[in-house]
Amino acid sequence: MNSVKEVGITVNKKDSFSEWYTQVVLKAGLADYSPIKGFIVLRPYGFSLWESIISILDSRFKETGHQNGYLPGLIPESLLAREKDHFEGFTPEVFWVTKAGNKNLSEKLALRPTSETLAYSIFSKWVSSYRDLPIRMNYWNTALRAEIKATKPFIRTSEFLWQEGHTVHATEQEAEKEVMLILGLYQKTIKEFLAIPTIMGFKSNKEKFVGAKYTTSLEGLMADGKALQMGTSHHLGQNFSKPFEIKYLGKDSREHFAWQTSWGVSWRLIGALIMVHGDDKGLIIPPKIAPIQVVIVPIFKDKNALIVKAKAKEILQSLKNAGLRVHLDDRDEYTSGWKFNEWEIRGVPLRINLGPKDIEKSQVELVRRDTGEKSFVNISGLKDNIILFLDKIQDQLLNRATKFLNENITRISNYDILKSMLGKKGGFFLSGWCESQICETKIKDETGADIRIIPFDGQEESESTVCIYCREPAKKMAIFAHAY
Ligand SMILES: [Zn+2]
Repeated sequence: MNSVKEVGITVNKKDSFSEWYTQVVLKAGLADYSPIKGFIVLRPYGFSLWESIISILDSRFKETGHQNGYLPGLIPESLLAREKDHFEGFTPEVFWVTKAGNKNLSEKLALRPTSETLAYSIFSKWVSSYRDLPIRMNYWNTALRAEIKATKPFIRTSEFLWQEGHTVHATEQEAEKEVMLILGLYQKTIKEFLAIPTIMGFKSNKEKFVGAKYTTSLEGLMADGKALQMGTSHHLGQNFSKPFEIKYLGKDSREHFAWQTSWGVSWRLIGALIMVHGDDKGLIIPPKIAPIQVVIVPIFKDKNALIVKAKAKEILQSLKNAGLRVHLDDRDEYTSGWKFNEWEIRGVPLRINLGPKDIEKSQVELVRRDTGEKSFVNISGLKDNIILFLDKIQDQLLNRATKFLNENITRISNYDILKSMLGKKGGFFLSGWCESQICETKIKDETGADIRIIPFDGQEESESTVCIYCREPAKKMAIFAHAY
């Protein structure tokens, strides 16, 4: 058997963030590498986290009037090429199928990098009158994009799990409303369940989705100071409805092109959860999203094994009955020390230690994963106490992450200072920007930092400041940062 040290995380988060991240992914049993470079294999624990995310988002999509469907994974080249910017943007990343068995195909087929073109060729058949609108579809599927940059499990892989929403509306305003509805839904869900605060805003024209009129996004700050795009919601205008001929006969008996949106979040959210909440011992999963919220570890020797295990099962059942997600680890082959270590790596929010002495006193020991704090709780009031503790942990994780985000947003109006700070520390830097792509590109070339987001809030500040690069009057306040 391996020693506890070997299965534990052997580097700390602060000093070796990247290695720490990889060890957490592998040792917590979330994912493994696959035989193909850039692809990962989801293990049951990782998949159950994704299932939690699906179940929460899916119910919210349905509550807001969306329906699920499924689309094929292959897209003919002619369809992918129909919107020019979209095609040019995606071409460098597309995997192509050129053969079916031994026969060469007459037309290349793309392995879906995203479904706009395929979905819209179908939608054009479904829409002919204003009565057919709106269409509000969601697809839970995968996307394949050949990653040239260094890959990282959940953050950058050549195939990823995600959902993509696609909608068609009669008016521009309706599409705009949809874009904001989804962005708000994403932000609220990510905050409430994943305990991660994000900043809402627009992407710059340079960074927007290829083919979109504009892109709105949620930007999160990871513990190493790098930004992570957590979700996007695009207003497509009529950029796709025109080439795909999604037209409807209006109440005015005239033909109109429709207005569209698309939006998505991916398993990147799992990567964010690891990076934001994890610590030197491993993962810390917020209770609301945790596949296992409470783990019971009975502590026994041969002579009292039966009694302790029986009591542990009793507790397991009562907590399950209360609707909690509980796991009993009564394996004989592992010591309790080993089990403590394993459940800490896997980030289960609350652990119950139960030994013979506890049974005598009719109590259990509760151990919080986020703070390590231990307390004894009477078995009679256990369920209520656990619910209370889980709520506290959920709040504590969000508070911690919010404090970190707020402390790492720096206002800067001097370019030299921005440059030197970007070289020393991470975080978000809020500065005035003249909206010129020349300044944006120069800053990127000289510092490696992008405009991550043009926040919705606080834009009035731009009226009294200048562009951090060219010193012309600012038109926008933008957040610059290094990013994943
Ligand atoms: Zn400028």
